[in-house]
Amino acid sequence: MSHHEVGPAVALVVHDVAPRTWPECAQLLQMLDDLGARPVTILVVPHYHYRDPIAKDARFIAALDRRLARGDELALHGFHHRDDEPPPRTLRGFVERRMLTRAEGEFAALNEASAAWRLAHGIEAFRALRWPLYGFVPPAWLLGEASRAAIDRCGYPLRYVSARRGIFRLPNWRFTRTANLCYSPDARWRRVLSRALIRAELARARHRSLLRVSLHPQDVRSPEVIAHWRTLIAEILAERLPVTKAQWTASFGQSPVGYASGASSEGTDAGLSTASSGSNALVSSQ
Ligand SMILES: [Zn+2]
Repeated sequence: MSHHEVGPAVALVVHDVAPRTWPECAQLLQMLDDLGARPVTILVVPHYHYRDPIAKDARFIAALDRRLARGDELALHGFHHRDDEPPPRTLRGFVERRMLTRAEGEFAALNEASAAWRLAHGIEAFRALRWPLYGFVPPAWLLGEASRAAIDRCGYPLRYVSARRGIFRLPNWRFTRTANLCYSPDARWRRVLSRALIRAELARARHRSLLRVSLHPQDVRSPEVIAHWRTLIAEILAERLPVTKAQWTASFGQSPVGYASGASSEGTDAGLSTASSGSNALVSSQ
């Protein structure tokens, strides 16, 4: 059984949105507008790389206020978007924190107090701007055990947390597998690999109620990447209804049966049982 409440859906997501990355993000949003792809989920980093806090940039705030007014969602995407913790000591840690991401996995290795501090300041940044907040997306989709505990204790009723392979609905961390398309565009071999991974993920997406399209500011540096996104997104829009992540998460609550048990409705593959059991499964092995 799939998630019939919304039917096949697509979440169009723009990552790493901050004053520093705004020129690139605006191009991505323009591309989505051209394609008639809305609403969009916009992942905001309140103090990206320790530069230009969002609260000080009136034009940035006004631009995002306009996106909110037209039905887009703003979600919290870390605080600094930088993994400053001591270097990883295990091979797995090295692969996750240094190869799959260039030390951007801010919430991968934080202790609970540091995670709590950054979460609280991120939530406060949204509150100060009167931006509604439903979801948290850890940078690079990496979330350590201590950060997960900090989310449980942050005192704010977040409704979802995203992982690379799916979405957790809070407060119970109920996991639903989703498909997720993403480019790693900054070297030619990475672009070639990304194309292959996107093809494989699209094949898997047929069994997923939600497909996420994860767009990053650096995607706009490569015309071939943008051209590929345009084609893909146009094809996806012919088959799936665009939703924000908050809308998709909320749609589970409208179903009186099925989702509480979590058994039949949440995907069919074997990875699911491990995926809900700990932070190790929050990260991808690719
Ligand atoms: Zn990011």
